[in-house]
Amino acid sequence: MRGAETPVMHACGHDIHMAVWVAVARTMVGLRDQWSGTLMFVAQPAEEGGGGARSMIRDGLFTRFPKPDYGFALHVGPGPFGYVSYKPGVINSTSDGFAITFNGKGGHGSRPHTTIDPVMMAGHFIVDVQSVISREKDAARFGVVTIGSVQAGNAGNVIPDQATVRGTIRSYDNDTRLKMIAGLERTAKAVAMMAGAPEPDIGITEGAKAVVNDAALAERSGAVLKAAFGDKARLMAEPGSASEDYSEFVMAGVPSFYFGIGGLDPKYLAQAAANKTPVPGNHLPEFAPVPEPTIRTGAEAMSLVMLDVLQKK
Ligand SMILES: [Zn+2]
Ligand SMILES: [Zn+2]
Repeated sequence: MRGAETPVMHACGHDIHMAVWVAVARTMVGLRDQWSGTLMFVAQPAEEGGGGARSMIRDGLFTRFPKPDYGFALHVGPGPFGYVSYKPGVINSTSDGFAITFNGKGGHGSRPHTTIDPVMMAGHFIVDVQSVISREKDAARFGVVTIGSVQAGNAGNVIPDQATVRGTIRSYDNDTRLKMIAGLERTAKAVAMMAGAPEPDIGITEGAKAVVNDAALAERSGAVLKAAFGDKARLMAEPGSASEDYSEFVMAGVPSFYFGIGGLDPKYLAQAAANKTPVPGNHLPEFAPVPEPTIRTGAEAMSLVMLDVLQKK
């Protein structure tokens, strides 16, 4: 901006992931005489939003190279460093994006009767779509619709021609996902009909699917983590609501174990809990995993679960 350097970051901890990745590769090569099999390291770009896993598969990841018998992945989060968390079955959410443009008819703010106000439509939609969550979706199933962007007009006294809302849809299972998408489309059309406006333009961008851990592998790898980390290996009760395109590798037929590691100082977390101050999670500018213990834990955990399935026969 204005020629000055503007710091930007994704702040998801992917620097930690790649450092762990290198550390695991070094460890496994160092221990080469203690395991048998073939290890494949996948350095995937564009984990979030960019469709990196899908691109790699389309590019022949599992045809140019053998498809692995097992897959392993990890992600850092705002838990205490030194801790690992895991879960069989669904571990994080399906994520779809949407953009809906309400087509109205612009005019002067003093003469609304000569217009079809798209801002009103967007307003109705933003509120009404939440009843898809509260009244249509099974309350026992996880599902979220969030609108993070609303764009319309640029003057306070002018009714614009169009209003666009953008958001994200999260769920753990495909039925809930389809139900939410259908409800969202129906709500958008109904809002436009109510205003006597033409049909809205509805765009749904399919994103990452939920990562589903293989039950048998998760049990086996979970036991390895439990043995190594004791109380610091936690079985998650619920999946997380973040998304991850590692799911593409699972859907391509690689039984997998995807787990989490903490990255924040336990002392800091205890202090934050005592003071009731919020802890910065992934993507917040203050999210700063402590490198050494976090990388060490990630590398240890990953090497151990790999060594377990690569035992010499
Ligand atoms: Zn991220
Ligand atoms: Zn990430």
